[in-house]
Amino acid sequence: MARKKNSHVSSSRSDNCRPGGEEHKLGIKSSSTTAVILSDAKIPVGNLIGNVGDGAKIAFNVLNVGRFKLGASVTGGAKLAIHEAVRYANERHQFNKPISSFGAIKHKLAEMAIRTWVSESITYRTVGMIDHLIGDGADNATKLQSIEEYAVESSINKVACSEALDYVVDEMVQIYGGYGYSADYPAEKAYRDSRINRIFEGTNEINRMLIPGQLMKRAMKGKLGLLGAAKALQDEILNPQMSFDEDTSLLAAETSLRKMPRKRP
Ligand SMILES: Cc1cc2nc3c(=O)[nH]c(=O)nc-3n(C[C@H](O)[C@H](O)[C@H](O)COP(=O)(O)OP(=O)(O)OC[C@H]3O[C@@H](n4cnc5c(N)ncnc54)[C@H](O)[C@@H]3O)c2cc1C
Repeated sequence: MARKKNSHVSSSRSDNCRPGGEEHKLGIKSSSTTAVILSDAKIPVGNLIGNVGDGAKIAFNVLNVGRFKLGASVTGGAKLAIHEAVRYANERHQFNKPISSFGAIKHKLAEMAIRTWVSESITYRTVGMIDHLIGDGADNATKLQSIEEYAVESSINKVACSEALDYVVDEMVQIYGGYGYSADYPAEKAYRDSRINRIFEGTNEINRMLIPGQLMKRAMKGKLGLLGAAKALQDEILNPQMSFDEDTSLLAAETSLRKMPRKRP
C-alpha cells in the first residue's frame, strides 16, 4: 500500500482524500501500509481511466497482473531462502558433520528446490503466454484482453507460488533449528514476510473459487468447445445414425446400435 503516515500530505490537501494511520504488521515492515480514505471525494473528469462503467473490469485486470507478478516475486524470495538455508546447513555442524550431510536436511533442501522450480516454471509459462498473445505494438485494449484471457493461469500462479514460498520458508526455519526462531537470523523474517502472499491480491480461498468459475464461464462461451461437443453428442443421441456407408456388415450395424444406449444419460 501507499504512503507513510503524514508524509507528503500538504496542509492544503483536501480531507476528502487522505491516508489513514500506519498499520503495524506481522511482516513486510519496510513496506508502509495505510488505508486510503475517500470521503465525498470528487474525481476530475480528466482523471477517468477508461470509460465510465468499465471500472470493475479495469480493477480486476489489475488484480490479474498482480497475481502473476506475485508468482515472480515469491519465486525470488524462495531462491533467496534456499540460498541462505544451504549456506547455514553447510556451516552448522552437529555430530562432527555439517547438517547438510544428513539425509533429512538434504530431503528438505530438495523439496524446497522442487517447489521453487515449479513456481519459476509456471510463472515463466504464464507470462510467456500473455506476452505471445499481446504480440508486438498492441494497443491498450488488446493488452487488457490478453491479460484477461489468462486470468485462470494468473490465479493458479498466485495460489501455487505463494503456498510454495510458505513451504520453503517453513523448512528454512526448521533447518536453522532454534536460530530459525530468532530475530537475529534471516529465517524468522522470511517466515513472517512470506505469510502476506496468501492474503493480498485476492486471498487464496477467493482465487481457488475463481479458477473453476472462470473455466465454466469459458466453457459456456464455447472457448473450450465443451458446449459444442455436448451439442454434437446430443444431436447424435436424438438422431441416431442408421446408415453404415463404409462397413455394411451385420456386425458393424450391431456394434453401432450397442454403442448408442451407452451414450444416454
Ligand atoms: C499488507 C497488506 C497490503 C495490502 N495492500 C493492498 C493494496 O495495495 N490494495 C488493495 O486494494 N488492498 C490491499 N490489501 C487488502 C487485501 O487485498 C485484503 O486484505 C484481502 O483481499 C482480503 O480481504 P479482507 O481483508 O477484506 O478479508 P475478508 O474478505 O474479510 O476475508 C476473511 C477470510 O474469509 C475468507 N473469505 C471471504 N470471502 C469468502 C468466500 N466467499 N468464500 C470462502 N472464503 C471467503 C477469506 O479468504 C479470508 O480467509 C492489503 C492488505 C494487506 C494486509
